[in-house]
Amino acid sequence: MIGILGAGLAGLSAGYHLKKDYVIFEKDSEIGGLCRSFTKNGYTFDFAPHIFFTKNENVKVLIKKLLGENIITKIRKAFIYIYGRYLEYPFEANLGGLPNKIIDECISTAIKAKENPTEYHNFYEWIENVLGKGVAKHYMIPYNEKIWKYDLRKMHYSWIAGRVPSPKIEEMKKGASGMQNETFGPNATFSYPITGGIGAIPNSFLPHIKNLKCNAEVINIKPRKDEVEITVRENNKEKTYNFEKIFSSIPLPELFKILENVPEEILKISTRLVHNSILFAAIGVDRANITDKHWLYFPEKDYIFHRLSFPMNLSEKTTPPKKSSIMIEVTYPMNETIDIKKTKDQIRLGLIKANLLKEKDKLEVFYTELIKYAYVIYDLNHKENVSKLHEYLIENNIIPVGRFSQWEYINMDITILNGKIQVEKFG
Ligand SMILES: Cc1cc2nc3c(=O)[nH]c(=O)nc-3n(C[C@H](O)[C@H](O)[C@H](O)COP(=O)(O)OP(=O)(O)OC[C@H]3O[C@@H](n4cnc5c(N)ncnc54)[C@H](O)[C@@H]3O)c2cc1C
Repeated sequence: MIGILGAGLAGLSAGYHLKKDYVIFEKDSEIGGLCRSFTKNGYTFDFAPHIFFTKNENVKVLIKKLLGENIITKIRKAFIYIYGRYLEYPFEANLGGLPNKIIDECISTAIKAKENPTEYHNFYEWIENVLGKGVAKHYMIPYNEKIWKYDLRKMHYSWIAGRVPSPKIEEMKKGASGMQNETFGPNATFSYPITGGIGAIPNSFLPHIKNLKCNAEVINIKPRKDEVEITVRENNKEKTYNFEKIFSSIPLPELFKILENVPEEILKISTRLVHNSILFAAIGVDRANITDKHWLYFPEKDYIFHRLSFPMNLSEKTTPPKKSSIMIEVTYPMNETIDIKKTKDQIRLGLIKANLLKEKDKLEVFYTELIKYAYVIYDLNHKENVSKLHEYLIENNIIPVGRFSQWEYINMDITILNGKIQVEKFG
């Protein structure tokens, strides 16, 4: 018998692919983890904005099988709001519309970076040395400082491959003259469920899941020689279970807090992992078509948020007719608190300043939620620390699955794949 901890996409995928008997324990009253959706006053929002995209054929086929007709594919309409105007994403491939001085600075420094490749040792240097100092100064550094809330010189660059587009000089020039006809990045086309928000994806696993307990928080884990004992608080009662092995999607720092008999050195490493947190806000507006975009990036400090997404343009079924909806993300450093009331005021003012809201707009929903584990931060010791923790867990029959147990910046597709790969390897 196998225990699976957490019913986010990783735990659900592990259960779906496992060929043995298992029980999934989920501390919340519902499944889905970060990919849950909720409906308020007729508006459907995701707990954090999500779109689905993948290059992995296995995951594509699985999603098609699970969601059937309940999914639409869209061509990305993502823009950057900068210097009072919208530039299509990605910045460096769509410079047209910026003042000539900035365009020249971005292109000449990008040429210099490509012609004289210089070594880089951290994310900050990667940005300057690969994309050029102009793109770095005007967009990449301000945006990344805003989203990560961490010193970019203390971040590794290992997570970048396939995520940050790096257009050729010819492509930059084409974009600068307003003639861009290429698309860039892995989500140039993406999919989204027609009904149910992104939560339709975890929910589509449910008919295939055999043994699931919600309101079941794992509060203690004791690894023994050939089994793992876990204590679970289920509807306020404590129960003990023994499994030959467990697959855990609990964030590593939380997992090590409830794990018994961990050597001091390993415990210390688990406290060194770095991540950031998000204040997520959802707004329902009593006005139609406030924008036709899917999402917008805000690199400038004048705006508290770094990204806005518009559910009504992802699927019209998310939003009542003649109304609009916005999902807002504001990151903050780990272990810090955020003033929710003040942030809500700053969000509203920022939306007015960006001409998305009007003073007199009626907000039918203005909901906020704090997400403690948002983005894993690749500090310079990330790889070494994570591999020591994983080695210890696997020796003790605790197999990490998912974003915060793998402690990687992985999206839904790779999370689903990771659940499959881990049970095939260790199940
Ligand atoms: C802001 C943001 C935006 C994102 N946008 C996208 C996107 O656009 N596209 C995309 O593909 N991916 C996106 N992602 C990534 C995606 O959300 C994750 O890859 C995926 O949801 C991770 O699933 P998981 O199961 O690993 O973790 P989680 O969803 O965190 O699931 C872990 C589960 O474990 C449960 N749990 C925790 N502790 C216990 C305990 N002690 N006992 C029992 N249960 C417990 C939790 O309640 C939770 O349900 C985004 C992530 C964030 C933060």
